[in-house]
Amino acid sequence: MTEAPFQAGSVGAGLRTVVVIGGGQAAGWVVKTLRKEGFAGRLVMIADEIHLPYERPPLSKAVLSGEAGIETVRLVAPDAFTALGVEAWQPDYATSIDRVRRVVRTQSGREVEYDRVVIATGGAARRLPESIVGTGNLRYLRTLDDAVALGEQLRTSRRVLVVGGGWIGLEVAATARKLNVDATIVEGAPRLCARSVPPAVSDFLLELHRANGADVRLGASLAALEDHPGDPGRVRATLADGSTLDADFAVAGVGLAPHTSLAVAAGLHVDDGIVVDEYGMSDDASIFACGDVANHPNAWLKRRVRLESWANAQNQAIAVAKAVLGVRSPYEEIPWFWSDQYDVNLQILGDIPADAEIAVRGDMAARRATLYFLKGGAIHGVIAINTPRELKLARKWMSQGLTVDAAALADVGRALA
Ligand SMILES: Cc1cc2nc3c(=O)[nH]c(=O)nc-3n(C[C@H](O)[C@H](O)[C@H](O)COP(=O)(O)OP(=O)(O)OC[C@H]3O[C@@H](n4cnc5c(N)ncnc54)[C@H](O)[C@@H]3O)c2cc1C
Repeated sequence: MTEAPFQAGSVGAGLRTVVVIGGGQAAGWVVKTLRKEGFAGRLVMIADEIHLPYERPPLSKAVLSGEAGIETVRLVAPDAFTALGVEAWQPDYATSIDRVRRVVRTQSGREVEYDRVVIATGGAARRLPESIVGTGNLRYLRTLDDAVALGEQLRTSRRVLVVGGGWIGLEVAATARKLNVDATIVEGAPRLCARSVPPAVSDFLLELHRANGADVRLGASLAALEDHPGDPGRVRATLADGSTLDADFAVAGVGLAPHTSLAVAAGLHVDDGIVVDEYGMSDDASIFACGDVANHPNAWLKRRVRLESWANAQNQAIAVAKAVLGVRSPYEEIPWFWSDQYDVNLQILGDIPADAEIAVRGDMAARRATLYFLKGGAIHGVIAINTPRELKLARKWMSQGLTVDAAALADVGRALA
């Protein structure tokens, strides 16, 4: 192991070893921040992927289309990572946390004593039920290796079947269409992205995909996915109504299963993710969690939530790394997520309550509009369609707790500032 080139200081005094489990975006920000804040002790990162920490958003976009290489997604350049003095146990897999002896063990038989552990294990792409899958020609998208393999297959195919009309499925379909590959999206719900956007935005997404040549089937539940009877290299999907769809291969984007088994086995409180406080601390004061695997009390939403977003993976990890060192700044960012599909950049900020008053500024049909979700004049959330500057301004108002007039917001003749 390379000794970390850092001077011991008062920050994190008394901590000899911090173990970070996971090697994704959140883990990357934890190790970076620990060093930036002056932690000079032993830092072990246990990660089952071979890659150094990287960002996943491009995996369904530029990496999938082949426009961006794998080096473009790195969170830290290899030289800079080496300079952090992190013992990266890669590829290895943390199999247990012994909270009595304060030891983490791994699949390869290694073990490390800890003072603090940060669990940043993210999640895996949820699988379709085995009972309906009778083909090996089905892919999932979570890792860089998945994206590279899926991209190669996409670029040599003529038709892909996308199971799931959520964000990942829609981005894969948009990339397929960009590559001139026919795409059929099968979604069991009556509308797209139904869990995160209101009906008007689902309709917008539907129109966007259909206008770009995607075949979108709503309320279409998948009954079977099998090898094509006449051509085993291809797949045939049978829907609940008995109709069939043929494609060269299928990709499923049906949600995320958080990697919580380690925490469950360690006896930590787990309930849709590892339950942590506003500092990312679990019910064991030596163990923290952040990113997609953590369920935290969100100050803006005023409820517990497990977020799956780039901004959360970064900013919660930063807050957690500081808390590990005893610098307690609560994580209280307004939730923010974005998606890129075709020529549309769509961003969601804050809460989108079903009973909110909606002020629409701009023209959704022209693919440029901001939807403000208001209660008593306060902005609870925003959906920005190709209007990043308006979202930025709304973020400022929301942080300041300003109240606004819905009619004035919707009037494009009035300047926002
Ligand atoms: C294809 C794709 C596109 C996305 N696009 C967007 C977007 O446009 N906008 C947006 O806001 N968000 C997007 N996201 C979400 C965002 O990328 C995630 O929220 C973020 O990557 C979560 O980071 P994480 O570090 O918490 O988890 P992960 O990135 O899942 O990293 C966890 C790592 O830990 C490893 N691990 C798990 N268990 C163990 C163990 N026991 N031992 C060792 N290692 C372990 C995992 O294999 C993984 O490598 C996208 C995600 C994907 C997959």
